[in-house]
Amino acid sequence: MLLSRRWCGKYETVNVLCYRNRVFQGIHNCSHSIIIKVKLPTKPETFPKVVGWERNSKQKLGPQMVNMSSSMDPSSLAESAVDLNLKLMRWRLIPGLDLEIVAKTRCLLLGAGTLGCNVARCLLSWGVRNISFVDNGQVSYSNPVRQSLFQFDDCLNGGKPKALAAADGLKKIFPEVNANGYILSVPMPGHIVNSAGGEVDKVRSDVEKLEQLFDDNDVIFLLMDTREARWLPTVMAAAKGKMVINCALGFDTYLIMRHGVKQGTEAHPPHVDVETLKAGRKVPGSGLGCYFCNDVVAPGDSTKDRTLDQQCTVSRPGMSMLASALAVELLVSLLQHPSKGLASADTTSKDSHLEADFESTLGLVPHQIRGFLSRFYSVMPASLAFDKCAACSDVVVSRYLTEGFHFLLQVFNSPTFLEEVTGLSQLHAEAVEDEIWAISDDEI
Ligand SMILES: [Zn+2]
Repeated sequence: MLLSRRWCGKYETVNVLCYRNRVFQGIHNCSHSIIIKVKLPTKPETFPKVVGWERNSKQKLGPQMVNMSSSMDPSSLAESAVDLNLKLMRWRLIPGLDLEIVAKTRCLLLGAGTLGCNVARCLLSWGVRNISFVDNGQVSYSNPVRQSLFQFDDCLNGGKPKALAAADGLKKIFPEVNANGYILSVPMPGHIVNSAGGEVDKVRSDVEKLEQLFDDNDVIFLLMDTREARWLPTVMAAAKGKMVINCALGFDTYLIMRHGVKQGTEAHPPHVDVETLKAGRKVPGSGLGCYFCNDVVAPGDSTKDRTLDQQCTVSRPGMSMLASALAVELLVSLLQHPSKGLASADTTSKDSHLEADFESTLGLVPHQIRGFLSRFYSVMPASLAFDKCAACSDVVVSRYLTEGFHFLLQVFNSPTFLEEVTGLSQLHAEAVEDEIWAISDDEI
């Protein structure tokens, strides 16, 4: 068409060279080029109607643009493939499954070790897109074989900060994830803060950063390796009404529990008592205990006077994978429950669970799962909130809310302060008194 319009009447034929340059082993070769002889018509062709330009939203002719990125960009391809995989679950098996609520839940993982890595990977496979890690350690040579987000290179030159390496590891697996790492120490009761050398300011800024992270997230996972490291996050979560999933390992035992969620700063409902548990009735989520509720001793420095081998958690390698998977599945089941964190606790005592009893589309929502790997066995107990709890009791939470860092500093610096505040000291004294009376009775 172009040739006829341009050269009709001037030439009878036109030679068109189709130049084909091929490169093989660095040598150019154009022997495949061809020449096409085109015979021009005697009269110019009339210009046909053409398509390709359409009126746009402003009624002006222009090209139609189609965004092909979702079918070309590997990151977008991965995202839609992952979503599709999850949707298959809903289409085929569980029509009531709410994947959106899982996807938009923002999770804060305190600890980026074996538990942190495995919990993050399981969250990712459920479609969770916002995951943050808090850790103050570096990746060491022993880590990558158990901690599934790290590789050998992460250990070199003293090791990358774990929180950052975990976030990077997650992005390498799935670039669309919003993963962040924060190098932060969680201050602990009994770990004394020296007033010299600006240590108080450092701890204060760590506490403030942690509070900010709690505000920015919906669920807090406690995945640290000491008991006392869980105290401050437990208090903060109770004060802010956040969901907590706590995960702790022994050598061949594990504990996964969700903490009771208070509604605002209200007291634990008074109608929840031991009789409720004995009668096999469900305990409402707001009356459930926390990690410290069953303890009569406040948390302190558990690493003090211990040798290095006693400070480390030693557990069977599969424990972390088992416990991490259960922790994430507990959260997802909870999110599918109409009451979310306030869901009543299902327990093992009720053996004949029928599907009709399930309030969550995924089944039961226990308070705790305690597993014993030596017997490949697990139970689902529930426990009540303790009014003298060193972490979630009203007295501790309200003093934290009113006195803030000043209260926390007293807890960090004095091993007995918490027991005095909660009345545990008095409880101990009464217990000793009772014992004395009991002995006296025996002797009479
Ligand atoms: Zn408690």
